[in-house]
This record gives sequence, structure tokens and C-alpha cells, in this order.
Amino acid sequence: MSGGAVAVVTGAGSGLGKAFAELWLERHGPVVGVDLAAERVGWLDGTRAGRHPSAGLAADVTGAEGNEAAVRLAEERFGRLDAVVLSAGITAWGHIESLDLAVYDRVMDVNVRAGALGIRAAAPALRRSGGGSIVVLSSVSGTGGEPEHWAYCTSKAAITNLARSAAVDLAPDGIRVNVVAPGPTHTELTRPIKDTQPEKYDELRRSLPLGRWGEQEEVAEAIAFLASPASSFITAAVLPVDGGATGR
Ligand code: NAD
Repeated sequence: MSGGAVAVVTGAGSGLGKAFAELWLERHGPVVGVDLAAERVGWLDGTRAGRHPSAGLAADVTGAEGNEAAVRLAEERFGRLDAVVLSAGITAWGHIESLDLAVYDRVMDVNVRAGALGIRAAAPALRRSGGGSIVVLSSVSGTGGEPEHWAYCTSKAAITNLARSAAVDLAPDGIRVNVVAPGPTHTELTRPIKDTQPEKYDELRRSLPLGRWGEQEEVAEAIAFLASPASSFITAAVLPVDGGATGR
């Protein structure tokens, strides 16, 4: 397939970023996917029948260069940039008094700083395309405290307001910035809870009005809606995809 809206996705090697990339390639257009290691983005190199073309890039998005290289690759290979999804993220568990501050710093670097760098790298290219859409992954964990999860909760509150602020700055250029805030969803990030903490897994399940964990494809649908022109009058919004957790 040729043509279509071009997307850059960080964290494209796994979970929500990968599920979004798969959906976008089937329905919308080419994808440049970024993740830490070549083996994580290898699946993006090339073209599969009935799907738009894609390219993978191994880079750490906590540095400006990785974000800029992804945007450059999108423009060089596919001619333009229309949408950016910032899904690279990590979590960390530990009490407020004992978590190693180096771990806290890394969580903030990946979950917040990389968000700012991704937006800064994308804005000029989206402007060159006459506007576009940026979708940032926050979390229900960004709306309150959770036991021994302060580093992650802090980072998710910060990225939500970073995205809203960017939305205000970039709106005059027709660049929309929105947030998807998932609840507990089956991915690599949350597999340790399922595998090693069955009681916590079940407690989280019971806390959701829909009574089950989410699947990555369900979150990808919401990301794709906000990334595409179907949401053209929506910016600075936070869309919970959480089985009803925040609405109850
Ligand atoms: P995941 O671990 O399955 O995928 C995240 C990907 O990001 C991985 O492939 C990882 O290698 C990559 N990554 C990490 N640090 C990176 C870096 N510095 N540079 C480049 N790539 C990097 O996680 P996921 O569940 O798909 O989570 C995606 C986003 O959604 C994260 O921001 C996460 O906080 C958020 N989220 C997830 C859930 C959930 O339940 N899964 C819930 C709420 C929010």
C-alpha cells in the first residue's frame, strides 16, 4: 500500500505502542517505530502484503537525538509526518523513603523528559505537514497515589499536564496534543503483577467496574482515534481507557 498518514511511535517494540503501530499500518499509513534495541523494532522493517510500509529505529528516547532521528526517518522515508504516539514508558516500585533516587530519576527521564523531547522533535515536522496530532500515554496512576508507586504516579501526573501545556502552545499551528490514560492492561509492563502477585492482580480486576483487565488492542483503538483526523476538534483532552476506574 502507498500513501497514507505517517506516524512515529515510541515504545513500538511492545504493548500499547506495538498494538497501535499494528493498527495504524493496517488502516492508516506508514509507521516509524522506535524502541531501545534493534531486536525490539525488527518487526517493523519492510512491508507486509495489505499493510503500509514501516521502518524501525533503535534509540533511547531520553535523548534528543533519538527523537530527532525518528522524525528525520519519517520525512526521508515516507515524505511527511502526521501523527506521533509517545508510548515508551517504565515503572518502578518502592516506598517513598527507600526507593533509590537514581531509579526515580530514570522513571522521570523516560516517562516525562522523553515526552517533552518527543513533542519538541515532532512539532517542526508536523508544522511542515500543515498540522497533525500527538498522543501521549499517561495512566490512571496519574490521578492519585498508589502504595509504593510514587515515582510512576508522579511521572504520570507530570506527563498529563506537560501534554496539556504543549497542546496550548501548539494549537495555533493546528497541532493537537491529547492524552490516553489507560487502566490495568495486559502488556509486558504489567506481566510481573499477573505472574507473581495474583492477589494484587485480582484486586485490580475487582476495582474496575467492567470487572476485567484491558487488552492492548482496546487501548490502541483509543490512541488511533486521537492520532487521526477523526478527532479533529479535540485537543488538550485526557481520555481514560480504564474499564470505568476513574468514573466510578
Ligand atoms: P511495555 O513495557 O509493554 O512497552 C513499553 C516499551 O517502551 C518497551 O518496548 C520498552 O523497551 C520501551 N522503552 C522503555 N524505555 C525506553 C526508552 N528510554 N527509549 C525507547 N524505548 C523505551 O509497556 P506498555 O504497557 O505498552 O506501556 C506503554 C505506555 O503506557 C507506558 O507509558 C505506560 O506507562 C503506559 N501505561 C500502561 C498501562 C498498562 O497497564 N500496561 C497502564 C497505564 C499506562
